[in-house]
Amino acid sequence: MGNDIKEVAKKTIKNLFIKNIEPTPNEYHKEFCIIAKEYKLNAKECTQFKELVSRLNNEEQEEIKSKNITTFEDMIPILLNRVATKNLKTLTSLFKESMTPSISIGLDDKITKFSVKIGNSPALLFEEEIQKEMQSFITNRFEADKKVVQEKTAEIAKLVTLMGKHLNEAISSSGDSGVEVSNIKDEIQAINLTDNGIKELTTLQSKLINAAMSIENEMTNVGEKLSSGKDKVQELEDKVKTLEEQLSKTKEENLKDHLTGLLTRKAYEYEAKKTEENYKRNDTQYAIVFFDIDHFKAINDKYGHAGGDMILSTFGKILSKYTRDMDIVGRYGGEEFIAIIHFNLKRELLKYLKRIKSIVTQNNFIYEKKKIKITFSAGVTIRNDHESYDSAIQKADMLLYKAKEEGRNKIILEDNTVI
Ligand code: GH3
Ligand code: MG
Ligand code: MG
Repeated sequence: MGNDIKEVAKKTIKNLFIKNIEPTPNEYHKEFCIIAKEYKLNAKECTQFKELVSRLNNEEQEEIKSKNITTFEDMIPILLNRVATKNLKTLTSLFKESMTPSISIGLDDKITKFSVKIGNSPALLFEEEIQKEMQSFITNRFEADKKVVQEKTAEIAKLVTLMGKHLNEAISSSGDSGVEVSNIKDEIQAINLTDNGIKELTTLQSKLINAAMSIENEMTNVGEKLSSGKDKVQELEDKVKTLEEQLSKTKEENLKDHLTGLLTRKAYEYEAKKTEENYKRNDTQYAIVFFDIDHFKAINDKYGHAGGDMILSTFGKILSKYTRDMDIVGRYGGEEFIAIIHFNLKRELLKYLKRIKSIVTQNNFIYEKKKIKITFSAGVTIRNDHESYDSAIQKADMLLYKAKEEGRNKIILEDNTVI
């Protein structure tokens, strides 16, 4: 290697001599690199130049190529273009911009003075003192901006928190506690936003105040609607209560015959159906008894309708009193009554029928101090003897008719028992 360099150096000097070129360091370098290439000698001095050129910008590389520049010395004018006044001015203004805080204000004056100074003599940019000053401007710029951002973030957070509180309060308040909400709105309004020229934040603040105000108004409306709705609901509730009371009273009235206090026909039928279901399930034996007061028309004629009513009422009370709770007795219509009597032994049934007959016939009904004697006829069937409830009731009706036919004041059973 050492020999190669010597060879190349020798040949370089020889060539310069042959070519009649002054052996200045520059010329020597050029020629040396040509020969070094021939000898395939990797001389650092020759590759360094190329490498440096590759680091320049495109424009400069083009220029070096077109001017066939091969030495550091020839490169200098091109590099000097970089520090042309025009470029330095651009650079200065770029620096100014980068040093000026974008968010905070207040450093402007110093920066302007500094920029003017640099602008007047751009070469200052290369002085260490100036560079240090620039560095501190940049640091200050970041610090100032950071501080403002922190402040603003805290203020925004405060506004947002208050707004959230406002919303929550608005949602959870029932309408009459709007005072709380209004207080929060005032709090938002009272936040004294640090004035460093950030319009957006004060705009945000007034937007929030507006929003808070419309929420408040809306709430007042809702509150009013709610409280008027409340009154209406109360009114309706009262009405419903009254109607319910009336309804249950009407229901009771519908179940009980007003004159006799016995079940109405409808209520009787409902109870009869339950008895029939029980009969089918448990084989609970029962009898159907149809009662009809004899010559009731004549009683009405003699004592008047009110007299007739009194008889009906008393007759009903007798039936009610002497019929057990487990049995059913109702007013079937006019002066007709019906009973469902449960029994195990037939004599229990007969006992019941006899008892009713004797009480009705052996006592006087009193109306306006007048003693009135009444009789009734009845037809009786036993459910077991029939296929269905309907056929049993029809037969009882037929037996009642028979009792009337056969002279009244009789209770006739299907087995021809007559009481
Ligand atoms: P019978 O012995 O054949 O049963 O003769 P009756 O007169 O009892 O029978 P009828 O069916 O001819 O007349 C029944 C009467 O009962 C006619 C009707 O005016 C009267 N009546 C029906 N409901 C009432 C009522 O609620 N009060 C009064 N006072 N009379 C009634
Ligand atoms: Mg009748
Ligand atoms: Mg009658």
